[in-house]
Amino acid sequence: MESLCVQEHEQISAFKFADDGTIKVTGRDLNECLYYLEIALDSIGGWTSKWRMVINCNTNKTEVICFSCKDIAAVPTTFQLCGNTIQLTDSSKVLGITIDRRLNYRQHSQNVLNNLMYRWVCISRYTNRNWGLNQRVLVRLTKTVIFSCLFYGSLIWQNNTNLVQLNKFWYKVAKSAVGAVFNIQQAIAEAILGVPPLSVTGRILAVKHYLKALSNTDDIHKRFLLNEVTSKNPVVLSHMKDIIRFIKWKHEYNPGFTSPSDTELLNNGFGMEDLFKLTKRTCHYSRGLIDKFTELLWQESIKNQLQLEGWPIIPRVSLSPLPLPHGTSREQEVLIMSLLYKNNLLNSFLSRLDRTRWNSSLCSCGCEDQTVIHLLTRCLLIEDTIRDQASYLLTTGNEVNMEKLDDLGPVAALLKRPQFHGSVSFACS
Ligand SMILES: [Zn+2]
Repeated sequence: MESLCVQEHEQISAFKFADDGTIKVTGRDLNECLYYLEIALDSIGGWTSKWRMVINCNTNKTEVICFSCKDIAAVPTTFQLCGNTIQLTDSSKVLGITIDRRLNYRQHSQNVLNNLMYRWVCISRYTNRNWGLNQRVLVRLTKTVIFSCLFYGSLIWQNNTNLVQLNKFWYKVAKSAVGAVFNIQQAIAEAILGVPPLSVTGRILAVKHYLKALSNTDDIHKRFLLNEVTSKNPVVLSHMKDIIRFIKWKHEYNPGFTSPSDTELLNNGFGMEDLFKLTKRTCHYSRGLIDKFTELLWQESIKNQLQLEGWPIIPRVSLSPLPLPHGTSREQEVLIMSLLYKNNLLNSFLSRLDRTRWNSSLCSCGCEDQTVIHLLTRCLLIEDTIRDQASYLLTTGNEVNMEKLDDLGPVAALLKRPQFHGSVSFACS
């Protein structure tokens, strides 16, 4: 393909991957586009007959799609290729991503969502609040079965509009994994599961992708990047800001990771254009570094959100899962996690929810409101020996502090006690 027409005209470019090929034709107006498309199609026709290759011209195999066209009605609906007819379409699947005429990727996003919902229905058959797969397994499954699909090519198609739907779906998954009965704040569910918000994961993937591109001296993605930065593409610019953050953060974290020439750049007010001068060493990242940087962005995002809502203490987030002891049953695990969010099954929440069913927020000991802090530090119905072992859990109110959850043995024991168990789960019906 290239040998025939691409080199002659800058308006025609070819992209190939394995047995898949795409020809892009650009022009100032429709007529110019059609003119160059004709040249490209003729050239492909000539090439294929020379090499005796047959192109499958069926729909979904070979198609024409037209982007940013003001008058789509003026575009011919069929084209001729090697004597066969190919159709003009509104969307076409290229390497697993459905590209639509308007480039908003709404259709691809919907396809992904349908696919994910099916996968999630399959997974959720094997778990509920009381039995089945535990949250550790659910998180692992989510990452491998759901996120792999959700973030495939996300850099291209995920935008704020598409993310709204996907985020609603992810909320359902997170809520089920936590085993929450009532609505749980999404940021808290994510903190409990040790899974960052979708937007943070998306930003991290972009950082990784672009760092790879920037570390090469000559790379098609690097040229694209330079082009987009020059034309001030807002999406790319926000990704570039994250990369600058990462480079600066990494340098602070360990100056030895930055090459001497780049250290000089960093010391002299690092700018967007300096990104394209970076050496391979500075662009290098490891899994551990990326994990730390993810936690940094995640912590920032949860802080911004919860501070706005008036939370006095912000949970400290971590990618490592809750250290629940081996052999904890799903039921126990769900109860333990319910201590980490507000809308659980304790009277203090239930009475706010429905006064006719739960007339008081008082604990069954009659002393004060049945809150997590009460149960673990002051409730008369719970023996002191157990409470003293467990109270360290909740030294700072409702904070979800992963560090303090090193040993949940005593809490698990506490939760098995009939009076506690009763007070937590009596309202399930
Ligand atoms: Zn009590």
